[in-house]
Amino acid sequence: MTSRALFTTPLAKGIGGAAAASIGAGLYFRYTMSVAHADSGRPTKAFGSGPAFLSLRLESSELVNHNTKKLRFELPQPDAVSGLSISSALLTFSWPRGCYLPCVRPYTPISHPDEPGVLEFLVKHYPNGKQSTHLHSLQPGDALRFVVPIPGYRWTPNRHKEITLIAGGAGITPLYSLIQGILRDPHDQTRITLVFGVNTDEDVLLKKEFDEYERRFPDRFRAVYTVSRPVPGSPFRKGYVTKELLQEVAGGAPSSAGSDVKVFVCGPPAMESALMGTRRVPGILEQLGYTKAQIHKF
Ligand SMILES: Cc1cc2nc3c(=O)[nH]c(=O)nc-3n(C[C@H](O)[C@H](O)[C@H](O)COP(=O)(O)OP(=O)(O)OC[C@H]3O[C@@H](n4cnc5c(N)ncnc54)[C@H](O)[C@@H]3O)c2cc1C
Repeated sequence: MTSRALFTTPLAKGIGGAAAASIGAGLYFRYTMSVAHADSGRPTKAFGSGPAFLSLRLESSELVNHNTKKLRFELPQPDAVSGLSISSALLTFSWPRGCYLPCVRPYTPISHPDEPGVLEFLVKHYPNGKQSTHLHSLQPGDALRFVVPIPGYRWTPNRHKEITLIAGGAGITPLYSLIQGILRDPHDQTRITLVFGVNTDEDVLLKKEFDEYERRFPDRFRAVYTVSRPVPGSPFRKGYVTKELLQEVAGGAPSSAGSDVKVFVCGPPAMESALMGTRRVPGILEQLGYTKAQIHKF
């Protein structure tokens, strides 16, 4: 059944009506937001805290490795900013050809919230994945609809002396956003250790950006990469993110009195279970002495 045929059923008419009402509310919200910001003299924020239903044009699409693309969208005005808080995601909406239902999935921008005019994403393609296949098929000039922001971690500068970020694969995007937000803030002195676990050398995304941060902030930022299937002669450690690896590299002994380390985790389900544990088995982080309050999972 095509999407046109689907719209003729009573259920679809209901969904269509609700969607139209929501889009109307979203457009009204967007209009009032942009007027308010234009009046204040500050840059217009493309997204507020509510629904946006904003359709953005793809400016460029670049393959960065065997399965990941960097997608760059234009904001409505060249001097507008996204207005998102760091580590927030945006819910995307599409109706890929041949699908009976629309597809709604979140993605985390890697461009800084104050960067004017653009919104950038790193999107990994999953075989048969609906939205990632659609996003990888987009060509410059095509549009994608962004429905609503999903707030990330509410970061307070200097609340923790140091943080450990543990990422797996495409889970790097919210952690990169956090790192970027902290290191761009001249008042924030938080020290950061990133532990990034991937399958192959090629999957080490954003390496150039992390190298640059290590160069500019040698006392505050360090990245440790571990690859489960490295090529011969790989510059990276070999293996998964294990208890031993975290014991060796993660900052601060969590069980020591007054420890102020916060840990952030974002990765595929198997990695998150190993780190956070299951109902029956305690995770690596608990075994290392971190309390639940010290851990945030994206
Ligand atoms: C808050 C948040 C932010 C996110 N940010 C990003 C981002 O910046 N970049 C990005 O690439 N993705 C991100 N994701 C994941 C993204 O939302 C989609 O889940 C992903 O692109 C797969 O969607 P799909 O429609 O292509 O696959 P689906 O059609 O939903 O799934 C198809 C198959 O793909 C596989 N699959 C799907 N998702 C995963 C997964 N996460 N791990 C392993 N296998 C999977 C499964 O085998 C599944 O059966 C984020 C997710 C969340 C919750």
